[in-house]
Amino acid sequence: MNKITIESLSLQYSDGTESLRDVSMGIHQNAVTVLFGPAGGGKSTLLRCLNRLNDLTEVKASSGQILIDGENILDPKVDVIALRRKVGMVFARPVPLPMSIRENIIYGLELAGEKRKSKLDEAVERSLKLSAVWDEVKEFWQTQPHKYAANVSLNCTGDFLANSKNCEESFNVVYSLDCKYIYDCVDMKDSQDCNISGHAELIYNCQSCSGFMNICCSFCAHSSNLYYCDHCFNCTNCFGCVGLTHQNYCIYNKQYSQEEYEKLIPRIIDQMKSNWGEFFPSEIAPISELDCVINDFFPASTDKRIDTIVKEAKVYPEVVDNKMQCIACNKDFLIIKQEQVFYQTHQLPFPPLCPTCRHRRRIQQRNPRILYSRKCNKCGQPVTSTFAESNPVQIYCEKCYQEAR
Ligand SMILES: [Zn+2]
Ligand SMILES: [Zn+2]
Repeated sequence: MNKITIESLSLQYSDGTESLRDVSMGIHQNAVTVLFGPAGGGKSTLLRCLNRLNDLTEVKASSGQILIDGENILDPKVDVIALRRKVGMVFARPVPLPMSIRENIIYGLELAGEKRKSKLDEAVERSLKLSAVWDEVKEFWQTQPHKYAANVSLNCTGDFLANSKNCEESFNVVYSLDCKYIYDCVDMKDSQDCNISGHAELIYNCQSCSGFMNICCSFCAHSSNLYYCDHCFNCTNCFGCVGLTHQNYCIYNKQYSQEEYEKLIPRIIDQMKSNWGEFFPSEIAPISELDCVINDFFPASTDKRIDTIVKEAKVYPEVVDNKMQCIACNKDFLIIKQEQVFYQTHQLPFPPLCPTCRHRRRIQQRNPRILYSRKCNKCGQPVTSTFAESNPVQIYCEKCYQEAR
């Protein structure tokens, strides 16, 4: 009995090439079947149909069916990932996917559902040792000078700092002056404990804010002297307000006179006691912890989290065209038409990861947002680095790094 039955398979590429016309054949189980013919005869196209690799190329028209164990694998309802787990293809020349060496090695394991970092690390080490490049790669990496941090600023500590001065323990910051503990910020002055903010001065404990003298606010722009406000724009002197524009002297969205406001605010602050100055509690966060940016830097890796994501993915609407399933989090995502044109123009495969996982992978290429006191491996000058003391790579201070280049 045939393991694979091909019935009247025809396929035409969108450039007009008719690659297969009415092909019918049977392939037996536990037998070697040879397919031969001239170059350009459609052999590869036929093989690529067997695990639906042609889904990723521009096909104008196709017809017929391919039965594997009696199931028509060309049916759009077929789980392509499950199919490719069963039907593999070994190319004449190895083709690494446009990802890092590590990602190429762990691709298959991730596809099979392996999510434990220890297992994936083990596989990378084992494969590189088997191909005799482990020691070379490791030694090369450790002996090359690394700059202590991506810091092109004056008197700053942190990582990814540019055109800034006197910013302490800050990350992803540009054009800022005299700040402390700010993350993902631009054009900040005399501010502390803020993230994703910009064009601001004297703001404290704010996220996604711009303006002047705001404290503990979220998503407030072009505003000043706001306390505990959310989504307020072009406002001044407000406390605990949400969604206001062009307002002044409001408390909990209620209008007061300047005199009343100035009398009430010190009383409210006094009643808040030790909560004053603390950001909104996480219980009232508008999004779940799973979707929170904290996962970029401190990824939760428990099974519970993965389960929840899979359940969430089920509520996404069923969109058949270009629907992909992320190999890391199993969430469905779409490749929209414009993306498809881009990938095909540049002859790139579709990404196996959803946009969120791709973003997290990119973030993971960076060192964690933790700072260590180390010494330059060349001159011994103390540096504040994102490379841990236990990391054996060579760390150079700015001067030694520039000289070594
Ligand atoms: Zn994902
Ligand atoms: Zn040095």
